[in-house]
Amino acid sequence: MSRRITTVTPALVALVVVAAALAEVAEARPGGGQSYSGGGSSSGGGGGGDAELIFLLIRLIFYYPKIGIPLLLIVVVVLYFKAKGRLGGAWQSPAAAAAPRPGGDLSRILALDPQFSPIVFEDFVYRLYASAHQARRVPADLAALAPYLDDGVREALAERQPANLPITNVVIGAMKALSVSVPGRAEAEREDAKVVIRLSFEANMSTAEHTYYVEEIWTLARAASARSRPPEKAEVLGCPHCGAPFTSSDNQRCDYCGEVVSGGRFDWQVTSIQVVRQDERPPVLTQTVAEVGTDLPTIIDPNLRKRWDSLAHDDPALSVDSLRARVEMIFRELNAGWSALDAPRLRPYVSDGMFDYLRYWIDAYRRQSARNVVDDAAIRRVLLVKVSRDRYYDAVTVRVYAGGHDYTIDARGKVISGSKRRVREYSEYWTLIRGSSVRGAARADANCPQCGAGLKVSMAGACEYCGAHITRGEFDWVLSKIEQDESYGG
Ligand SMILES: [Zn+2]
Ligand SMILES: [Zn+2]
Repeated sequence: MSRRITTVTPALVALVVVAAALAEVAEARPGGGQSYSGGGSSSGGGGGGDAELIFLLIRLIFYYPKIGIPLLLIVVVVLYFKAKGRLGGAWQSPAAAAAPRPGGDLSRILALDPQFSPIVFEDFVYRLYASAHQARRVPADLAALAPYLDDGVREALAERQPANLPITNVVIGAMKALSVSVPGRAEAEREDAKVVIRLSFEANMSTAEHTYYVEEIWTLARAASARSRPPEKAEVLGCPHCGAPFTSSDNQRCDYCGEVVSGGRFDWQVTSIQVVRQDERPPVLTQTVAEVGTDLPTIIDPNLRKRWDSLAHDDPALSVDSLRARVEMIFRELNAGWSALDAPRLRPYVSDGMFDYLRYWIDAYRRQSARNVVDDAAIRRVLLVKVSRDRYYDAVTVRVYAGGHDYTIDARGKVISGSKRRVREYSEYWTLIRGSSVRGAARADANCPQCGAGLKVSMAGACEYCGAHITRGEFDWVLSKIEQDESYGG
């Protein structure tokens, strides 16, 4: 898909701008994006032009039907002929496949560094992102992150507004790799060769008084010769060489092990942070947004068959059916926990990052004495679209088609958005992860996989009876990402 469609009429551009201004509304249900999925806000990279356009148009119809409806008809006709041209007459049904959208593919780094894991990396970046913002106010905290944030980045962070206020509740709503540049084999031999990644972030963070909505682009670089540390070591943002808390007289050489660790010699260092936007905007929880993208063709990874075969070869007990049953169980628990503002209920089934994200929104609803309820939700169809494997994790992505009543009520139970009567059909891409050494059919029961007790899990993700940590996929598949049709890039 391309953005060429926006040239249909010059007036369209202006109208899209109007619609974009209306885009700051919430979308409900767990992981439904809330204000993060505010259409026009999806930053650069592989964004789907047509999907975004239709999304804006639907909003336009909502607010200015006299302009929106004729415009939609024009666009539908144009899209129809576009699709017809490409597919030789076949209208793209939901079952049609689309190629992944261009963007950064982190797994390309595996060619240089077999120890690299996109999942461990994302975890590291989430931690670094929150730590960097929380350290802004305290020079010693920033200095302790010197191996990961270069001099210019630390200076800029220290000066960032609001300055001198503690930053808390840093929650990443979306992170996407915009580009990944990996030097070729010969080039990688050179001492100064680097792997460079550009990431876009959409995040919320708070001071005591305000919540900020932020979009940033981070550039990270690491020496081509560096090798990723195992997950338990990568968890600590200390010296990337010896793991000790980082102290240094020159912000480069570790006092403890004596190695120079700056310049991405051993681990990723942020070399620039571009602030795309930062404004004060509390989460909007009470407006209804039309569902968008459900009819878009499914993005299927070209390596799906090959990677699934390799996974099934290593773990013959794992079947698509057992995965589907687990997805359905997680779907049920997620909706039940979300609707009841009961974060502990969904805790056992989601990764740490996903849980932070869900809890943030559950808290936001609670603070506004509102509740988003998803009733009678049912999965219609689950399509396997991607499998990725690295040394530490296996990941599967499925497209989930579902429907249900989705509405938000206030403290008195009055519906303030959505509908109790109308069924809302939607689809989303779910990514589940599991430790790469774990084997066996995915389970659909709610018992601790270690001790068999009924699942009660601490906020940190450990079974309250036997203490086994389970939410990093140590025993079974956990949900680590929910992406909407319009933002999933493959
Ligand atoms: Zn050290
Ligand atoms: Zn247990």
